[in-house]
Amino acid sequence: VAALGLTGCSSDSGRGGDAGTEAGSGFEANSLIGVALPDKTSENWVLAGGLFEDGLAEAGFEADVQYAGASNAVADQQQQISTMVTNGAKVIIIGAKDGAQLGTQVQEARDAGAIVVAYDRLILNSDAVDYYVAFDNFKVGQLQGQALLDGLAAKFPDKDTYNIELFSGSSDDANAPVFFEGAMDVLQPKIDDGTLKVVSGQVDIAQTATDGWKPENAQRRMDTLMQGTYQSETVDGVLSPNDTLARAIITSVQDAGQADLPIVTGQDSEAASIPLIMSGEQYSTIYKDTRALVQTAIEMAQALQAGDEPDTTDETNNGNVDVATLYLEPVIVTKENAAEAYADNEELLALVNG
Ligand code: BGC
Repeated sequence: VAALGLTGCSSDSGRGGDAGTEAGSGFEANSLIGVALPDKTSENWVLAGGLFEDGLAEAGFEADVQYAGASNAVADQQQQISTMVTNGAKVIIIGAKDGAQLGTQVQEARDAGAIVVAYDRLILNSDAVDYYVAFDNFKVGQLQGQALLDGLAAKFPDKDTYNIELFSGSSDDANAPVFFEGAMDVLQPKIDDGTLKVVSGQVDIAQTATDGWKPENAQRRMDTLMQGTYQSETVDGVLSPNDTLARAIITSVQDAGQADLPIVTGQDSEAASIPLIMSGEQYSTIYKDTRALVQTAIEMAQALQAGDEPDTTDETNNGNVDVATLYLEPVIVTKENAAEAYADNEELLALVNG
């Protein structure tokens, strides 16, 4: 379990003799809570910002929610976190732009007595990460891999081998390899037994990565594959790590003139993808309810404020330490279960019902 660095949480914190208790002595109810988010390129981050603003205010905290800028995002985020530390934030919730580039800043936070909560993306190679709250990323990948298999079997009942391509996320996001490993956990045996044929031969994460999670990068790679590898073959399925990239991949296949679209996976339940799922252009997505993830992070801040140890379910190694983790369950969504999966979410449900 991570050691906490709460302000005033030394052995003379008034709870002397409570060795073994990880919780600190808490802090003032109206304290500053910093939230540093990576970018606005995908809907989940945009949603999270607003929810943090509202939710932290409602909980009685002072909130400082920042997004890293589009250019110089890493330096920008480093600066934002340092400023939060200087301003006396008690908890800093971080959706890392580059999980391997925040060691100095989270150490600054620790030294100043602030608690660091990694939000959605783990912060790597640092002792100064206190908590991690996320949807189970490996599970996300497994669900994507299984959806690809299920979708292929359903769409092509007469085939017993399928041409597929693999895409992964940005290499500076600690989640990207975990999603990919989860998917490959399901797909690799089917590649090995010949059921799935990665026609390009590009199976390594270095070959499949999508820099910055940018749709134009996925589209460019898919265009190249369509103009080369798939001149004389059709692509039956594509593992896409999220919805933004799924739409770019679908566009590329359409532009290349392949009439029968491949099975394409996704993630995030983005508003632009749900209609495509209902129309059959995109096969699947993952529901990671941002409201629940933000709420969980805020509840952690509230527990810390009260001097309690936040609830966690797991530990996740970040290269240096096992970080106390609270994982939420991701849900696979296809046309078949969309109405049920989004039953608690009016906005998404409206998109299902068109
Ligand atoms: C998140 C995904 C998101 C991706 C791109 C990942 O870290 O977990 O939900 O699609 O970043 O923003």
